[in-house]
Amino acid sequence: MLSDEKRRKEYDEARSLFGGGFRVPTGQRPGGGGGFNFDLGDLFGNTGDAGGGLGDLFGTVFNRGGRTTAQNRPRRGADVETETTLSFSDAIDGTTVGLRLTGEGPCPTCKGTGAKAGTVPRVCPVCNGTGQSSRNQGSFGISEPCKECRGRGLVVDDPCPSCSGSGRAMSSRTIQSRIPAGVSDGQRIKIAGKGAPGERGGPAGDLYVRVHVKPHPVFGRSGDNLTVTVPVTFAELALGAEVKVPSHRGAPVTVRIPPGTPNGRTFRVPGKGVRRKDGTTGGLLVTVDVMVPKDLNGKARSAIEDLREATAGTDPREELLERAKETT
Ligand SMILES: [Zn+2]
Ligand SMILES: [Zn+2]
Repeated sequence: MLSDEKRRKEYDEARSLFGGGFRVPTGQRPGGGGGFNFDLGDLFGNTGDAGGGLGDLFGTVFNRGGRTTAQNRPRRGADVETETTLSFSDAIDGTTVGLRLTGEGPCPTCKGTGAKAGTVPRVCPVCNGTGQSSRNQGSFGISEPCKECRGRGLVVDDPCPSCSGSGRAMSSRTIQSRIPAGVSDGQRIKIAGKGAPGERGGPAGDLYVRVHVKPHPVFGRSGDNLTVTVPVTFAELALGAEVKVPSHRGAPVTVRIPPGTPNGRTFRVPGKGVRRKDGTTGGLLVTVDVMVPKDLNGKARSAIEDLREATAGTDPREELLERAKETT
């Protein structure tokens, strides 16, 4: 890292002066603790030949309370958010999707330095590389981004033609990403390390994918269960029946309806729902919904008329009317 022999000497002097930990007092920071820790390696490793040596850095550190280090330290890439729309079945089974990510990153031409090929940026002489300019107002120090270098701490004499010296460029990339089985509509999935790339050797950020799931014409979702509403006749509920019910991606299953089942009751068929992470599977929730025929043929009509006659003695609303009286 330390190519320059003179710098190495300064480095060694600095180490003996401050000790290995290299704690720098932060006189200006209100309530600042015992100092500011930073790694000398960062200062040398990344500024290359651009800097003016340790003398400048020391001046900066002591004048600015160590802010200069933030410019040179590895920085974690930003988290990136995107979204994707899955079919109902893909959401249940899991799938691989191509995600197109657009974001700002280091300019590929100058690798983020902002300098034209063959040149290097130099430390901003106005802010001494801190990227901050401060002025004192009464007893307060006001700090704002340096106007000369726009907060970068470096100035470029020959700007990179691709990025006009900013060192940043918009780029888009497509990554293939595995969406796990069982995601539900609106869920946010974290894919670690697939966000924006880090700077100066820092780790990449994370990618968050908001998942939208298209509705299915027959099935719904309730957590790990699938749901389906099944039309039944009054006779099937009253007398009991075995009814065939569709299952998702499988043969129909038979649900036994016991005699006297109320309308709207839900039956659970185990193992026909959404596969969970642990390998088990949710159920299929079957809700019965009585169908009233619009047109009755003569035989059915007279049978229902017979039923009405046979049950004439019982008023299904009798209890309801009584209870309503009690509460008023
Ligand atoms: Zn560039
Ligand atoms: Zn500056």
